[in-house]
Amino acid sequence: MTLASYSAHSDDFPAARLRADFPILQRSVRGQPLAYLDNAATTQKPQAVIDAESAYYREINANIHRGVHWLSEQATAAHEGARERVRRFLNAREAAEIIFVRGTTEAINLVAQSYGRANLGPGDEVLITGLEHHSNIVPWQLTCAQTGAVLKVAHIDDRGVVCMDEFRRLLGARTRIVAVAHVSNALGTVNPVREMTELAHQAGAVVLLDGAQAIAHTPVDVQALGCDFYAFSGHKLYAPTGIGVLYGRRALLEAMPPWQGGGDMIRTVSFTGSTWNDLPHKFEAGTPHIAGAIGLGAAIDYVQRIGLAAIGAYEHELLAYGTALLGDIPGLRLIGTAPDKAGILSFVIDGLHAHDIGTVLDSHGVAIRAGHHCAMPVMERFGVPATARASLAFYNTHEDLDRLAQALRRAVEMFVR
Ligand code: PLP
Repeated sequence: MTLASYSAHSDDFPAARLRADFPILQRSVRGQPLAYLDNAATTQKPQAVIDAESAYYREINANIHRGVHWLSEQATAAHEGARERVRRFLNAREAAEIIFVRGTTEAINLVAQSYGRANLGPGDEVLITGLEHHSNIVPWQLTCAQTGAVLKVAHIDDRGVVCMDEFRRLLGARTRIVAVAHVSNALGTVNPVREMTELAHQAGAVVLLDGAQAIAHTPVDVQALGCDFYAFSGHKLYAPTGIGVLYGRRALLEAMPPWQGGGDMIRTVSFTGSTWNDLPHKFEAGTPHIAGAIGLGAAIDYVQRIGLAAIGAYEHELLAYGTALLGDIPGLRLIGTAPDKAGILSFVIDGLHAHDIGTVLDSHGVAIRAGHHCAMPVMERFGVPATARASLAFYNTHEDLDRLAQALRRAVEMFVR
């Protein structure tokens, strides 16, 4: 079977074979095969991505855009080729709408500082939800403090679902920006972002979607979603760290002031003033992460050969399997039980601190995350200081989840009973 022929039926999905593409998954940890279940923090990298990044340094390393020599032309073509891959991947209208940044955090700060400061005034409102990552809260708090705007929050219910009545109620004549996670990193909740975008537009607001936890798990089409901005990090999509993307609608990006000054973002500079380069360069001051962008392009090629619909269907089935397994662990409570969830199992166990759970699992070669997951308001909402979180990728198998459950049983036997 070729990669392109995977159906969306998870039975067909060759996770075990795809694992062979990831060198790190072949190694053992603490004397045991690695069960890597910390994919929401960062994903592992396939050989194709490692090769693409190192081939750039080995064969065509040069600075881009300004060079007149062959290597610089090659590096520029590879960098801009990666931008075009991102454009196709997101179905953006044009490559100029794809801004390379360091990651989701930088993308959101760019919008908050550039669009936000230019368009918010005293009494204007920014609407977020109760399940946001700190990087979709703090940049807005900073911008609100700078402009006199007010941050509003649509809260979540006991399942971790955003209260849409409150969301609708909070959208008003003063709402200028709505910034929402596509998928929650702490709970796995998939937000109804298309509906939220439509409602926000009806209220006259622009919409930023934080796609950090969606981009590797579901096909994303920014035109179908209708959003104005979409942010994601390469490292959560099997690509290198330090590279990410801000998609923005051209009309908005054109009207926004630059947020960082330096080389490449200017057309002219004199001591009396400067003028700005065209999109996307206006927002890309300084030498970018060229190798990272090329690695991101390779990662996109890689996941597209598998197909995000097939990945999503397989992970969905794994999530259901893992949810059932965890349901049988004595004293375990899942945090985040939304009907529409992606790839995240967040939980607490009576009598065990999340960090102790993580330590016991680590001794069994099972890598998860324990803590507040950069979502302290979510922890507060559920009245817990921290959760343990197992998060999935397409290279995870049922066996990984069996090992998670076995190790959790051991932890309960050792510490609770
Ligand atoms: N938003 C969400 C939902 C996330 O899960 C994360 C990272 O975990 C971020 C934003 C920040 O991503 P980065 O640290 O790659 O900038």
